[in-house]
Amino acid sequence: MKTRAWATPAADQPLAPFEVDRREVGPLDVQLDILFSGICHSDIHQARGEWGNSKFPMVPGHEIVGRVTKVGAQVTKLKVGDLAGVGCMVDSCRTCAPCDHGDEQFCQKGSAFTYNSTEMDRKTPTYGGYSKQVVVTEHFTLKVPTSLALQGVAPLLCAGITTYSPLRQWNCKKGDRVGVVGLGGLGHMAVKLAAAMGAEVTMLSTSRSKEADATRLGATSFALTTERSTFKTLAGQFDLLIDTVSAPHDLNSYLGLLRPYGAMALVGVPPKPLEVAAFSLINGNRRLAGSSIGGIRETQEMLDFCAKHQIVADVEVIPAEKINVAYERMVKNDVRYRFVIDAATI
Ligand code: NAP
Ligand code: ZN
Ligand code: ZN
Repeated sequence: MKTRAWATPAADQPLAPFEVDRREVGPLDVQLDILFSGICHSDIHQARGEWGNSKFPMVPGHEIVGRVTKVGAQVTKLKVGDLAGVGCMVDSCRTCAPCDHGDEQFCQKGSAFTYNSTEMDRKTPTYGGYSKQVVVTEHFTLKVPTSLALQGVAPLLCAGITTYSPLRQWNCKKGDRVGVVGLGGLGHMAVKLAAAMGAEVTMLSTSRSKEADATRLGATSFALTTERSTFKTLAGQFDLLIDTVSAPHDLNSYLGLLRPYGAMALVGVPPKPLEVAAFSLINGNRRLAGSSIGGIRETQEMLDFCAKHQIVADVEVIPAEKINVAYERMVKNDVRYRFVIDAATI
C-alpha cells in the first residue's frame, strides 16, 4: 500500500514529500490512519546524520497517534475505529530475556525501531510517523486514552515514556527533590510527570524566558544554569536529576548538585562524548546513569498514568510544509514545548 510521507533524502538536505510502501495487514498487524505525529530532537539528530547511524531516505517520527482502520484476524488488543499509539519501536524478537522482561528496547537480537532501522528480517527499512498511514504488529501498539487531547498525546509516545521511565526506575515519590535539566520536549514532560508523582521539582535551564512556564508546568523552583552561583546554592540538594540536554554541557557541575547516593539519569544525547571526572562521582557516592525510552508495558502504564492525572504535552501543531522550519526553531531553542504535525496536511 502506497502512503504519502515526508522524508530526508540525505543528511544535508531538507525534508520533502515522499511516498512509502506499507505492507499488507497480516494476521497480527494493525493499520492506522495517522492523526498526529510529534517532532522529537532525535528526529533532527538522525535526519542530519549527527549520530553516525543514518540511513536515507529517512521518514522520521516516533510519536504517533492514529485511528485503527484495519486489523488482522488474530488481533485482540484493538479494533477498527479505536485510537492507538506507536512509539519508538515496531518489533523485537519477543523471546530473549530483555524482551521477556518487558524491555523490548534492549532486545538481544536488536529491536526494530520505528524509523532509520529495519524490520526483524534486517532487510526491510522502517519508515516513521511523518506519514499518513502505518502498519505495526499488535504488540507494539498502545491503547490511547479517549479523555486526552490527541495532539498532546502524540509526544507522550517518546518524550513521555523517556522521562516517565527514569522517574519510575529511581522510585520518584512524594517529597523527593528532582531536578530537570533542559526545558524542551522531554524536559517539560519530566516536570509534569515528576510533579504528578509528588516530587518537589526544580527546573535547571539556560533560558530565563522559560521561568514562568516552568512554574506553570509544576516546578516549585527555577535556577539558571548559565549562572555559576546556581551550582553553589544548590550543591548537594537533589535525589535525582533528569538530564534532557541535546547539546554539549559540563556534567561535573550538575553531578555536584546531587546529595550523597543521588543519581543523575542521562536521557539527552549530545552527539559528542562528555567528560566526567572520577571525583565528581566518588565524592558522595554519586551515580551517573542512562535511560532509553521504555518498554511497551511501561509505555502503556505511562499513558494510563497520564489519563489519570490529565497530563498531555504542550504542543504547537504545524502543517507538514513547516517541518523544516520547526527543525530550525528547535535547534535555536524556540519550541514551547513540542511541535506536532497534523497528518491531514501530509
Ligand atoms: P528539545 O526539545 O530541543 O530540548 C532540549 C533542551 O535542552 C532545550 O530546550 C534547552 O533547554 C536545552 N539545551 C539546548 N541546548 C543547550 C545547551 N547548549 N546547553 C544547555 N542546555 C541546552 O529536545 P528533546 O526532544 O527534548 O530531546 C532532548 C534530547 O533527548 C535529544 O538529544 C534527544 O535525542 C534525546 N532523546 C533521548 C531519548 C532516550 O531514549 N534516551 C528519547 C528521546 C529523545 P533550556 O532552554 O531549558 O536550557
Ligand atoms: Zn524521541
Ligand atoms: Zn528480544
